[in-house]
Amino acid sequence: MPTGICPKCETIIQNVIIEPIEVHEKINQLNRGGVSYLCPTCNAILSVSIDPILLSNELLNILRTELPNMLKKADS
Ligand SMILES: [Zn+2]
Repeated sequence: MPTGICPKCETIIQNVIIEPIEVHEKINQLNRGGVSYLCPTCNAILSVSIDPILLSNELLNILRTELPNMLKKADS
């Protein structure tokens, strides 16, 4: 049973709304896809992160391209 409370409207958070947002990495000067998690009652931003689905897809694509080369090197 959820017990988290929105810091703005003080509603008990049963679910959140995910909205796309751009995240700027200051160190690498890169823009990445991100998501913000919103209170479904008042739309207050509860948290922001790099989009975990985009991140896992990037990792999957890297593995698809790099893993065969890594396995070839391991065999030789
Ligand atoms: Zn709220």
